[in-house]
Amino acid sequence: MLTGMYVAIIGGDARQLEVIRKLMELDAKLSLVGFDQLDHGFAGVTKMKIHEVDFHDVDAIILPVHGTNMDGEIQTVFSNEKMMFTEELLRQTPTHCTVYSGITNDYLDDVIKSVGRKHIQLFERDDVAIYNSIPTAEGTVMMVIQHTDVTIHGSRIAVLGLGRVGMTVARTFAALGARVKVGARRSEHLARIAEMALEPFHLNDLEQHVKDIDVCINTIPHMVVTASVIAKMPAHTLIIDLASKPGGTDFRYAEKRGIQALLAPGLPGIVAPKTAGQIVANVLAQLLSADLKKRKENKK
Ligand code: NAP
Repeated sequence: MLTGMYVAIIGGDARQLEVIRKLMELDAKLSLVGFDQLDHGFAGVTKMKIHEVDFHDVDAIILPVHGTNMDGEIQTVFSNEKMMFTEELLRQTPTHCTVYSGITNDYLDDVIKSVGRKHIQLFERDDVAIYNSIPTAEGTVMMVIQHTDVTIHGSRIAVLGLGRVGMTVARTFAALGARVKVGARRSEHLARIAEMALEPFHLNDLEQHVKDIDVCINTIPHMVVTASVIAKMPAHTLIIDLASKPGGTDFRYAEKRGIQALLAPGLPGIVAPKTAGQIVANVLAQLLSADLKKRKENKK
């Protein structure tokens, strides 16, 4: 339970509704900032403007999955209120106050570091990344169906990268009957790909391996699908780039060659906002409970 814990949830999208629901269930004291247009009746939860929050009592601040933008603005889909995350705001919090976001940026890092608060990036955690890979793979299936005129079953698909997303994507397409090959650079990854009964290839040989594919799914957040790789692909190839912006594809060259290449960020929040919210909510509940327990023990 989170009885006695005061949490400010500032901004976000539909995923935060699951966080609110979960933390309410656990009896946390919640202030919602940037939710004034939310119709949902969360009984006992206070909606506030950012200047109305007394940050001196706040044990945890939960920012949107994207944190802030590069100017420090906290975005919300539930309000037109302009909200800024500033050093001045954070300095009001007690020293034990922890800031949670999905990812970070230089602005957020600088503010939190200069005030000396703890910052937890939920999407850096393996468990969150692995759970999130499930709606990501489902969203990728959706995109492939939408942008091809053949079945996934029997299609030749190259997945680039065997990280948390790559592994789930490769497995999912193989389960649908696609002929999946996976490109990686580490020998243990190549061994794992073979163990999964998929076709492994070294990324050094990428150009050779794209000559016969129908779909290329990139999960590597570096430029790997270069112009020379795209030049070797059949003209009908669909490229879906899942890597974080700006992706790992030469989109300019793909367009020039007439190859359809799509950057597909944020699929979990698009195809399964409720599940994506529950993933974040469950981990947050664990982390906040552990934090509360630790502080109670330290007080003894
Ligand atoms: P990850 O577990 O770190 O996997 C990244 C993979 O890329 C690893 O196989 C890694 O191989 C490889 N890699 C990294 N740099 C490389 C390089 N320079 N050359 C060759 N291979 C390289 O990350 P993840 O959790 O799978 O996420 C992958 C990407 O998808 C991230 O950018 C993430 O933000 C994004 N993502 C997108 C969505 C979406 O909806 N589109 C959802 C979730 C995540 P090594 O081990 O050899 O380094």
